[in-house]
Amino acid sequence: LLLASRPLRALGALNAALQEGLAGLARIFSVIDEPPAVKERPDATVLPPGQGHLQFRDVSFRYPDGRMGLRGLSFDAQPGMTIALVGPSGAGKSTALSLIPRLHDVSDGAITLDGADLRDVRLDALRDAIAYVSQDTLLFDVSVRENILMGCPSASDGEVSEAARLAAAEAFILDLPNGFDTRVGPGGGRLSGGQRQRVALARALLRNPRLLLLDEATSALDSENEALVQDALAELRTGRTTIVVAHRLSTVRSADIVVAMDGGQAIECGNHADLVAANGLYARLVRSQGLEG
Ligand code: ATP
Repeated sequence: LLLASRPLRALGALNAALQEGLAGLARIFSVIDEPPAVKERPDATVLPPGQGHLQFRDVSFRYPDGRMGLRGLSFDAQPGMTIALVGPSGAGKSTALSLIPRLHDVSDGAITLDGADLRDVRLDALRDAIAYVSQDTLLFDVSVRENILMGCPSASDGEVSEAARLAAAEAFILDLPNGFDTRVGPGGGRLSGGQRQRVALARALLRNPRLLLLDEATSALDSENEALVQDALAELRTGRTTIVVAHRLSTVRSADIVVAMDGGQAIECGNHADLVAANGLYARLVRSQGLEG
């Protein structure tokens, strides 16, 4: 079993908390075993309207224990783009992802979403605009419908079914003993890994976030589930700005921008073809099969 790195575990906990509403937010800091690192400004505002234009501007980040997480990272994710972060273990990929919902604040530089510095935005507004989908999604031991509704409690049955259909989950759900009303068991244990992921994707689709943060699985599901999850992810990414910690060649090939990182820095930046031609870090990662086919 691959244990998610610390920033990603923190993000997973944050996501669960978001789904429970603000009441859950206090709890995550006990889960991630860190004091709340960010403070909301008294004059914090809602997000300006926008389509999910995310900019990292010369972002450096030092962990509270002094370790450098990021050094001068910049990229510009235009609305609808997919940005793939790749690099060896410890490169800073998950640290970069974790700064977006403000699990920590940057030490230097700035991150902006639709023109607003994240530090000027209310935390609930920021986190409402973001969905995080990871390889090891935990579901709550309630019905499939309730799990999907956590994305948006006011949604109608029709909207829940539509989200499930787009996430390639409707068929298997309708085959369960009580359909959408079937309880999923602790952690979602009555469903397969691929089924859990598709329920999580339906939940994210229902939330319709401006930004999608994706932690790509390193280990493949069985091939049928894998194909269905990839289709559902493609659906979820459409028309949405996506930042993905990528481990798959197919993902980086289809990304608009690949940021090849090492030591907390962007070593190379460009699309797959550019970076293969540059014959540097990225080309080495591809050759060494640090990225899987
Ligand atoms: P992986 O592919 O293994 O997940 P990564 O590229 O996501 O690696 P990060 O997990 O972001 O890399 O780690 C970047 C650096 O920050 C590493 O030196 C790591 O040890 C350090 N780091 C990560 N989380 C913490 C933490 N909570 N406290 C202190 N240092 C941390």
